[in-house]
Amino acid sequence: VIPDLQAIVGDEHVLVDPDLKASYETDWTGRFTGTALAVVRPRTTEEVAAVLLVCASAGAKVMVQGGNTGLVGGGVPAGGEVLVSLARLTDIGPIEAGQVTVGAGVTLAALQAKALAEGFDFGVDLAARDSCTIGGMIATNAGGIRVLRYGSMRRQLVGIEAVLADGSVLSRMPGLDKDGTGYDLVGLLAGSEGTLGVITQARLRLWPRLTQRAVALLAAESVEAIVEMLPALRGGLPSLAAVEFFLPPGLGLVRKHAGLPAPFSAEHPAYLLVECTDRVDPLDQLAAVVEELPGLVDATVATDAAGQRALWGYREKHTESISAEGVPIKLDVSLPLTLLASFIAQVGPKIEAACPGARPIMFGHVNEGNVHVNILDTGSLHDEVTDAVLQLVASLDGSISSEHGVGRAKVPWLGLTRSPVEIAAMRAVKNALDPTGLLNPGVILG
Ligand SMILES: Cc1cc2nc3c(=O)[nH]c(=O)nc-3n(C[C@H](O)[C@H](O)[C@H](O)COP(=O)(O)OP(=O)(O)OC[C@H]3O[C@@H](n4cnc5c(N)ncnc54)[C@H](O)[C@@H]3O)c2cc1C
Repeated sequence: VIPDLQAIVGDEHVLVDPDLKASYETDWTGRFTGTALAVVRPRTTEEVAAVLLVCASAGAKVMVQGGNTGLVGGGVPAGGEVLVSLARLTDIGPIEAGQVTVGAGVTLAALQAKALAEGFDFGVDLAARDSCTIGGMIATNAGGIRVLRYGSMRRQLVGIEAVLADGSVLSRMPGLDKDGTGYDLVGLLAGSEGTLGVITQARLRLWPRLTQRAVALLAAESVEAIVEMLPALRGGLPSLAAVEFFLPPGLGLVRKHAGLPAPFSAEHPAYLLVECTDRVDPLDQLAAVVEELPGLVDATVATDAAGQRALWGYREKHTESISAEGVPIKLDVSLPLTLLASFIAQVGPKIEAACPGARPIMFGHVNEGNVHVNILDTGSLHDEVTDAVLQLVASLDGSISSEHGVGRAKVPWLGLTRSPVEIAAMRAVKNALDPTGLLNPGVILG
């Protein structure tokens, strides 16, 4: 297939040299790696379609990749696939009627810069913003730190263009807020992890930019206490934009690897980072609600941008700091809020029983019951530790993947929280849109 691919995208965009392919072949965590037959970098939708046709007729499987910041091994080859990188689809159209059309390879940071420059904001934000792409974010239905206010990636979508496995181009781009004509194909592609089609463009909803911001870091007497604070925060703060939690082991690693000072004079059992954004300064409103919170033991509020960035650093530097310590197992799960504290209390002993000495580091988007369970020092006991955590999640009616997807990492456990009927329906959709299993083999359904 190599000469045919070169004829479509040009020799310089078909990488076969091992050194040039290397950065595409291992994922962000370093846990998932495989060799691609070639890395192909098309520039347009037409080139993507032609590449898929060549691969399909040669029987070469395809892996789809955006910014390669995914954390479940869904965008790197298992071995021998043609890796199609969407990183060169970087066009950003004009903002019209509060919507914008962007290429799949546009990074989140580039979209944010465009939106902010024109008085808008984008609803999804996450720490990998400089590298993750809009196509990858749609494919994983990315969540991040603002889901509580604006919803996850699927909710930002008002249109999509994708190349299907047979090379046809599915396009639904008029940007209609309401569309009652049959199946929601735009929504279906969100969260499909590259298994149903290659997303090439999206039409996205933007939100009015809110320039006034207040950020507080709260220390709580227990994990139960941070969950109990949520109704008061949501009810008392219409400007609430983000509520994130972390625990002492994660704070310790962030301080060690990012060199940050202790936020409080003493260590506390749990921490909550709260952000409000509005047209008028929300600081007084935030301070008034914080004062009355049950279970609060200490608080610090940042009034200027530098202080706010510093407080966010305690939360956002978790992922990097954990990776600086070693290669973790990364399990991103969600629980019913009423059972979140119980999960956190039980998961440590379960991990210790499966792998003595393993170190769990937990943090997450607490409003959505999300816990990122990162486990260091697991040696060769990946599957045992993963099984212990995900069985506990299933027993508490949670989801084994909150926002990172299933990828290859969680395939054996999908049946824990999706029923046989649901999985059969997913297989039927996959078989209908990709009958030869061309796209992202092994991802989601195995
Ligand atoms: C520091 C850090 C913080 C993070 N924080 C969050 C967070 O808060 N919330 C969150 O949801 N995620 C988070 N992530 C995970 C990751 O950033 C998201 O999953 C992101 O959406 C992946 O985008 P990407 O472009 O890097 O996709 P990739 O990693 O390249 O791919 C991810 C999946 O999408 C598929 N894919 C990629 N592009 C396309 C396309 N154009 N068409 C079809 N399929 C495609 C791939 O095949 C793969 O299955 C974080 C990651 C890091 C490293």
